Amino acid sequence: MNQTTSDKQTIVIKVGSTLIAPNGRVDRKTCLPAISSYINQCFEQGIRVVLVSSGSVAAGKHFFSNETPSAIEKKAMAATGQSEMIATWDSLLHKPCAQILLTQADLQERTRYTNIKSTVNQLLDNGIIPIVNENDAVTSGQFEVGDNDNLSAMIAACIHADTLIICTDIDGLYDKNPHTHDDAQLIKEVKTITPEILKMAGGSNSNVGTGGMITKLQAAQKATEHGIDTIIVNGKKKESFEALFEKVNPGTFFEAQGKPLQDQTHWLIHTSKAVGELIIKEEEDNKIAVNARNLDFRDIVEVNGEFAAGDTVLIKDVKGKKIAKATSLCSSCLLNFVNDHQDENTIMESALKQGPIIQKTELAIFAPTL
Ligand code: GLU
Repeated sequence: MNQTTSDKQTIVIKVGSTLIAPNGRVDRKTCLPAISSYINQCFEQGIRVVLVSSGSVAAGKHFFSNETPSAIEKKAMAATGQSEMIATWDSLLHKPCAQILLTQADLQERTRYTNIKSTVNQLLDNGIIPIVNENDAVTSGQFEVGDNDNLSAMIAACIHADTLIICTDIDGLYDKNPHTHDDAQLIKEVKTITPEILKMAGGSNSNVGTGGMITKLQAAQKATEHGIDTIIVNGKKKESFEALFEKVNPGTFFEAQGKPLQDQTHWLIHTSKAVGELIIKEEEDNKIAVNARNLDFRDIVEVNGEFAAGDTVLIKDVKGKKIAKATSLCSSCLLNFVNDHQDENTIMESALKQGPIIQKTELAIFAPTL
C-alpha cells in the first residue's frame, strides 16, 4: 500500500467522455447514476475518492454549430462543457465537489506538482471530492498531457493513491480487437505490462474522447510502477461497480509492482516531459546505463533542443539508445558553448569547476524493457 497523508484508502477513478457525454451533451441518466452511487458509497465507507473526469469537449459540442471543429473551437467547447460536466457531478454526488484543472506544465514544475498533492489531500481531509481534468481551454503541444488516462495515473502517483480505476465503454483489455474478432478473449489479470500486452491494445475505437486502450495501458504502467493496483472496468455496466464493492474484479486487473520506483525517479520517467536531449559517451567499465553517477561537461557529445537549467532532458548514447531522463543543471545554451570549446583548457576547466551538470539523484535510468 502506498503511503498517503491519511491511513484511509485512496482511490482515483477516471471516467471517460463516452460515459459522460456520448452524444455531444452530458447524459446524466445512462452511466453516471451507477458511477456516482459507487463514489458516494466509497465516501460513506471512509474511502477517499479523486475523480478524474473527461467530457468537457464532448459536453460542450451542442453549443457549437460546426460539425468538424478546429483546435481552437474545441478549446471553446472545453471551456463551455466543463461547467456543465462539473454541475452534473455536483448534483449527483453527495459531497461538495472541487474543480482542479491542470496542464502538463503544472505537473512538470516541482512546486506546482507539490501544490497539487497538498491541495488534493486538503480537500479529501475535509470530505470534498476533487474533480480533475486537463485545462483543455488553454493548453496545447508540449504543455498538454493529451489524454485523461495518463493524467489519472499521474494524479494517482502524485497523491500516492492505492488504486486507480479506469472506467471505459468496454469490459477491459482483450487479446484481439473485440469489435472485429468474435473469438477475442478478455484478459482478466496482467502481472507485468510486456511488449506483447502493449501490442494487444491497438488504436482508439471511439471518436468522443482522445484515449484508446493504448493510453489505458500507459496509465496502468505508470500507476503499477508506483505500487498502485489498476483496474480497467466497463463503466456502462452497473454490475462493474457492484463487483468492485464485492472485491471481485469486473474487468482487467493490473497488479502493482512489488518494488515501486522512488518518487523522484517515477516523476522523471512517467510525469515530466523531456524538452531536450543530451548525447553522452559511454565508458566500458562504468556504464551509466547500469550505475547512476554524476555527469559533467566531459560526458557530453551533443546537445539537442533548447532548454533551461532545471528542465528535464532525455539522455541517449551515441548510437541513439535511450538511457535515462534527468534534470539538467545547465541550459542548452551553456552546454553548447562549452561543447564548442572542448579543446580550450581554460574554458573547460572553469566549466568543470561549476560541478556536475546532472546529479545522480536526478538521473532516472530506464528499465531494460522501456
Ligand atoms: N480532457 C478532455 C475533455 O475533457 C478529455 C481527454 C480524454 O478523453 O482523455 O474533453
